[in-house]
Amino acid sequence: MRRRVLRSLFVLAAAAVSASACVPRLLAPVEARPGPLPAGADVTLSVDGAPLRVLALATGSVTVTPCHHHGCFPEDRGLFRRMVRILWDDRTVPAMPVWSYVVVHPEGLFAVDAGAHSAFDVPASWDCEPVAGTLNHAILALEAPPEASLAAQLRARGLGTPEAVVLTHQHADHTAGLLAFDGVVALTGRGDLEHARDIGAAPCRFEGHATLEAIEDALPELETGPSERERALGTPRALTEDGRFVAFATGGHTPGSLTLRLTTDQGVIWFVGDLAFEAEALDPAAPTAGIHTNPPRVRALQRTLARLTEGDLVLPSHDPRAALRLQAFGR
Ligand SMILES: [Zn+2]
Ligand SMILES: [Zn+2]
Repeated sequence: MRRRVLRSLFVLAAAAVSASACVPRLLAPVEARPGPLPAGADVTLSVDGAPLRVLALATGSVTVTPCHHHGCFPEDRGLFRRMVRILWDDRTVPAMPVWSYVVVHPEGLFAVDAGAHSAFDVPASWDCEPVAGTLNHAILALEAPPEASLAAQLRARGLGTPEAVVLTHQHADHTAGLLAFDGVVALTGRGDLEHARDIGAAPCRFEGHATLEAIEDALPELETGPSERERALGTPRALTEDGRFVAFATGGHTPGSLTLRLTTDQGVIWFVGDLAFEAEALDPAAPTAGIHTNPPRVRALQRTLARLTEGDLVLPSHDPRAALRLQAFGR
């Protein structure tokens, strides 16, 4: 009990210090329970008749507390109170996979999320934002074999550097893999750049490794506009000129979180980041994460997606069965 009180007080005090150079690093209190990484998937589909590959690459695993994973407070409680509850919780849920999805499109190579990386546990990598490092280690643990990093797995497959790594949001388990690149464009929602400190993101860590650009600045709006049903997701922005791969700045999980839609000849694939940790949890009536910045927005998006994605493949970033479902989609 005393340890939990001290931990909560320490972390909150650390977070309150904005001139943070003197804040010491808290040892990771969330105990990692690594397990074997799930096998990935590599399926060949087509877009307008041209070959397209979609890969699910397991970059590591993430362990969080139950209050982080499915909430311990009513969702209408403010983020600060929910965060205190998450920090107070010293239990863990089973480790979840951290997926990076890769799209080998006729117009170029794209990755959805950079995934985990062992540099998460290297204190020097947090030197430019030590408070973010402290907070992150208080609420999650990453297990990330170096050979499983996105960059290493792309190299091993001869795929090279992506045109862009599209970050569904800037939580550390989605960005850490950027540290394994020597120079890549990373696309993010503007809201995550503007509120980086509020969500424990530390974009300064990636200087020299990745150039972060907001999709609202870097990508054109899709000329045909959203369908009536899609309007609730916002304006689609085109990742590819054919308009088959688009990003919506939906927010909810974080201020700038993104939802991506890939339209193939075989059907539609949605990349939803952490709007739900598993496809089943996208059900608006299911328990949802305590870490969402804006739970009412998440619930509204879940209701919209439940209607929009019927018959489609939905790939959250931590779904243990994502690779199996991608393989089944590709058959
Ligand atoms: Zn997240
Ligand atoms: Zn995540």
